[in-house]
Amino acid sequence: MIRQYELVEAVKTYDPQADEDILNRAYIFAMKIHGTQARASGDPYFTHPLEVAGILVGMRLDVATIVTALLHDTVEDTAVTLEEIESLFGKEIAVLVDGVTKLSQIEFQSDKTKQAENFRKLLLAMSSDIRVLLIKLADRLHNMRTLQFIEPESKRLRIAQETMEIYAPLAERIGLHAVKDELQNIAFSHIHPEACHSIFTRLKFLREQGINLLTPIIQELHQILEENGIKVFISGREKHPYSIWRKMQQKNIPFEHLSDIMAFRIIVETIPDCYRALGVIHSTYPVVPGRFKDYISTPKQNNYRSIHTSVIGPNQHRIEIQIRTKEMDEIAELGVAAHWQYKQGVSHEGHQYRWLRSLLDILEHAEGPEEFLEHTKLEMFQDQVFCFTPKGDLIPLPNGATAIDFAYAVHSNIGDHCTSVRINGRMMPLRTVLENGDQVEIITSKTQHPSPTWERFVITGKARACIRKFVRQQMYQEFVETGKTLAKKALDHEHLELKEKKFNKAMEAFGVKTVDDVYAYLGEGLKTPTELIRILYPDHKATTRVRKPQEKTEPLRKKQEEVHVITGLLPGMPIHLAGCCHPIPGDLIVGIVNTGKDVTIHTSGCKTLERFMNSPKRWVDVNWNEELQNRKQHSARIALVVDHHLGSMADITTLIARQNTPILDVKFNNKTPEFYEISIELDVNNLEQLKNIIAVLRMSPYVISVERK
Ligand code: MN
Repeated sequence: MIRQYELVEAVKTYDPQADEDILNRAYIFAMKIHGTQARASGDPYFTHPLEVAGILVGMRLDVATIVTALLHDTVEDTAVTLEEIESLFGKEIAVLVDGVTKLSQIEFQSDKTKQAENFRKLLLAMSSDIRVLLIKLADRLHNMRTLQFIEPESKRLRIAQETMEIYAPLAERIGLHAVKDELQNIAFSHIHPEACHSIFTRLKFLREQGINLLTPIIQELHQILEENGIKVFISGREKHPYSIWRKMQQKNIPFEHLSDIMAFRIIVETIPDCYRALGVIHSTYPVVPGRFKDYISTPKQNNYRSIHTSVIGPNQHRIEIQIRTKEMDEIAELGVAAHWQYKQGVSHEGHQYRWLRSLLDILEHAEGPEEFLEHTKLEMFQDQVFCFTPKGDLIPLPNGATAIDFAYAVHSNIGDHCTSVRINGRMMPLRTVLENGDQVEIITSKTQHPSPTWERFVITGKARACIRKFVRQQMYQEFVETGKTLAKKALDHEHLELKEKKFNKAMEAFGVKTVDDVYAYLGEGLKTPTELIRILYPDHKATTRVRKPQEKTEPLRKKQEEVHVITGLLPGMPIHLAGCCHPIPGDLIVGIVNTGKDVTIHTSGCKTLERFMNSPKRWVDVNWNEELQNRKQHSARIALVVDHHLGSMADITTLIARQNTPILDVKFNNKTPEFYEISIELDVNNLEQLKNIIAVLRMSPYVISVERK
């Protein structure tokens, strides 16, 4: 526990003029007021606000922030009122405490809609003063550090998930990288305890094998840069378990690659030095293509600046290197907190909050809280890909964007009419995820319109909003047409005239604005034609009962979609999953129409597709039926190379069994004194499950490689 004078001293190291008195008073006040309250860990409650204050002191934040941290739980958890806080500590502190209290009240909700609504409030609250968010993140960080004391497990898991989905991305967005890393790692250790444990075991094993080469590599880098007259500070570190896990899931690379577990950072004095250091590195070692990124000339949205590159470095080890100045480094670690101290006094609505404004933009245009959460959550995962139009125009998109996103980014008209896409000259499905440097040619047709299923393959807010708008409009048009038919039939039946001029009364009665709205109400079944007649002709006596509109509209509302594992095809069209690539739900897929009019489903990366490159007419847009995808089992095959070692097979089958996955078949393809080559057939629900299994297997010390077959 930090003591009172230590806290004050720490603040004074970066703010010599700090108001000691208010810090001391807040410390004593909070300690007294929390009294004998205890944390789940058994510690006195006061340790919590004190630790939170300590975290913020580490970010060198102003006195008001530190005082608020000390007081942040008083209004929520004790009898203290906001008025008391204001009279004792002033208006500024009271406003901050109030902000944090409000944020704290909106957690502990599991229902999705509520979570979204809370998230909206959270963003709004933080937009009033970014310090509220910094305190909230420090609060969450300390709560995560002590999460192991929380019971029951379900509550721990919920908190860990929430941290992973909302708080870590928020921390990342405002550039608090160190906080983001820690939040993710703790959350990861609770969500996937076994995987986390395996990573630690593996890292320990590698270290024992003498694979920790940090020091010699740092020394060599240091030497070559000094020889070239550049003053540098170099640090190397092991990557975090969570980022290793992410990599193992995403890429087929053995754990041993140094670049997967270690990263090096070169800190120089000036920006020209950054480029000089880069030049020296690139001319000394072979460069790994495709890994160079210059965030100095093009900073990330959150103002992150640095140069990234990968080289085949000392002793043929592939290493990742970041080059930046000291100031850039501080901003990279502390993000908004660093800006905050550089720009104290400046309005909090400065440039660095541009992203926040774009969030608020979406917030205003989104239909409901859930839709909003969807947009933001996706847009929060930063990092961009840059793609080109055939003319060479650069289109920046968020990572994970598809060709449909691209089409909408170019122009909403192109998005609304796109039929297919050529990526780097090859025909590809519209939902293909784009990669950096792709040249994308969108093929359009006037008769093509957005399909509601597209929504699942876009990640930009713009594309999503356009598709929704179109679908809404289209449904509205259908309702209007149906409504017209219904009204005409009913009036004909009563031998009455349909006079739209008379509709004013109906508009008023239905509470709508246009004649079409009246029809749409009928078409959707919200009002009946009988009601319309009663309004238009109040004196008329109905001859017979008019048919209920529900019967009419039913077929419209219930789109007849066959319960099929694949969607996007005409009902009754026979399908089969290709034997060459064994697609499973989660794979990006395309359908190829065969001469017998049946459809074969391939993964989009399947080699067989090359045969159909010149017949785009046979390609159909298909997708997995998401409702079914977790209920149906699919066979998937993996190929492994395993150490020929007693117990290695038992280890592998145990790892697979722990993932609750049945093994259908095991084949030994080749045995040598050193290793086995085996293929395993598994029964999985979807791609994610398969990826998890592959990632877990890659961590086994016996496994040399795992590939999906
Ligand atoms: Mn707290």
